[in-house]
Amino acid sequence: MCAYKQSCTNLMDLPTAKVTEWLEGFDTVITDCDGVLWVYGRAIDGAVSVINLFKSMRKNIYFCTNNSTKTREELLKKAQNMGFSITEGEIISTAHATAAYLKKRNFEKRVYVIGSDGITKELDAVGIGHTGCGPDPMKGTMAETTKIQLETDIGAVVVGFDEHFSFPKMVKASSYLNDPNCLFIATNTDERFPMDNMVVPGSGCFVRAIETCAERTAKVIGKPNPAICEVLLQKEIGRIDPARTLMIGDRANTDILLGFNCGFQTLLVGTGVHQLSDVERWKKSKDLEDKKLIPDMYLPKLGDLLPALPLPKH
Ligand SMILES: [Mg+2]
Repeated sequence: MCAYKQSCTNLMDLPTAKVTEWLEGFDTVITDCDGVLWVYGRAIDGAVSVINLFKSMRKNIYFCTNNSTKTREELLKKAQNMGFSITEGEIISTAHATAAYLKKRNFEKRVYVIGSDGITKELDAVGIGHTGCGPDPMKGTMAETTKIQLETDIGAVVVGFDEHFSFPKMVKASSYLNDPNCLFIATNTDERFPMDNMVVPGSGCFVRAIETCAERTAKVIGKPNPAICEVLLQKEIGRIDPARTLMIGDRANTDILLGFNCGFQTLLVGTGVHQLSDVERWKKSKDLEDKKLIPDMYLPKLGDLLPALPLPKH
């Protein structure tokens, strides 16, 4: 077991020899994207160099995001444009993991989607039918929603981030979920997007709305649920040793908790949602759920690791 388990040790406070020793303690890195590697379209200072150096140190790298609005191909393009040396097979996204989850269970009906084309394109890629996505606005009075025609071949409702979330979508999703055999899947339950001046609702808001209305609880695919790693663990059987895997994230209740749930080592970076002050709060808390959020390690930003990494051999 990692000597620093849930100690939130600041790597900046360790002598170089100890950092080197820590670096040798993992051979797989699973990293969150938003808030760790980039913020919107801009790479975070030093993140590209650290990830590419990890690669040159022959560590397995996986990008793991709860963002369901993009396909893996789109995420790959974004990452490569910033300079990350990564392939499509090294990207784990909730949209892809959701499609893989259904495919693995031989799902043959169609999916009602509350979300974006990140989800529908991944469903297309594995040959699963769906109802599409986009605007479905309220027309007329509420009484008219009872005239909505429901499809007869819906076997699952998938809820992700949907900027066109609406009353008719709630009616349809909840009505499909009245059938106990209809699967109810959420890509993720992130509460909001980190932004300076505004509060922007995350997928979790839409999931809770449907859960309340349907009186059912969704199966969550995204972090912190180990289901997001199912694809990875399936493909890499025998290659990934959880004890020698490092999870890097900026949000504790998704990234660090996934690490806790899977037995990975964890590293929190301060370039996104949670800060050291939050960890101090959880350390003092008597709630055992809060304790699970405490990472092994902390860094102000991933790029701070650069001085401790070996220069690439030419
Ligand atoms: Mg993040």
